[in-house]
Amino acid sequence: MQNSISETVIAYIGLGSNLQNPIEQIHSARAAITALVHTKEQGFSCLYQSLPMGPQDQPDYVNAVMAVVTDLSPIELLRALQAIENNQGRVRGERWGARTLDLDILLYGDQVIELPDLIIPHVGLTERAFVLYPLYEIAPQLIIPNKGKLVDLLVNCPLEGLKRLA
Ligand code: AMP
Repeated sequence: MQNSISETVIAYIGLGSNLQNPIEQIHSARAAITALVHTKEQGFSCLYQSLPMGPQDQPDYVNAVMAVVTDLSPIELLRALQAIENNQGRVRGERWGARTLDLDILLYGDQVIELPDLIIPHVGLTERAFVLYPLYEIAPQLIIPNKGKLVDLLVNCPLEGLKRLA
């Protein structure tokens, strides 16, 4: 892995929630991420509504993508995001089950990271409409390491019920 010494990079974070007032959960998470040390918000997409993946007997999700400038290392950022998930009542249950808050590191600069508990670019990034569309909104020129232009991924990704919230 590169970057064991922290440097300032732009990281993109995916936010999702489908329990306990999801819109409020996303706003609280945004505030908590902005308050992290050595981390500044650089962009925030609109909120989107998406259909659940996996088990369908759960509410629709609210999703957004946030860009931050950070000095935190990838692992420090992951741990900080997991602490925010826990603070907002995240209970780890079944895979793709309902959750108060899900925070994923989508991209960390142009780094490719493959650690047991951190994979960047995030594994779902290239085929999930609820990630690609909000990401495109705030960073239309992005190139995804090893995957190519964001816009090319987006045009090949059906909306899958994704709606932008007012
Ligand atoms: P989730 O159910 O989406 O919250 O997945 C959580 C698990 O994914 C944790 O064990 C993380 O260590 C792991 N993980 C791997 N890559 C990432 C990433 N890029 N962002 C967030 N979590 C990740």
